[in-house]
Amino acid sequence: MLFFVSLQQTKILVLMSETTKCIVCNKTENDVPIIEFKFKGLKYHICSQHIPVLIHKAQALETIIPGIKPSEEANQ
Ligand SMILES: [Zn+2]
Repeated sequence: MLFFVSLQQTKILVLMSETTKCIVCNKTENDVPIIEFKFKGLKYHICSQHIPVLIHKAQALETIIPGIKPSEEANQ
């Protein structure tokens, strides 16, 4: 039983580490170049096509990245 549990945990860890998808379009590293970035201790992935969203319209990613600052400059 212990073996079974640890095997399940390993499976989950492998699945998590393989999830290299853009947070906006869900394209994988096999489709497009993917950039990894960190925010508040969490890792996220974004494709080259959507990096401008992260830079200029970070507030649009609020539902995906909890706590990301709304870009006040961009709203003016
Ligand atoms: Zn993307």
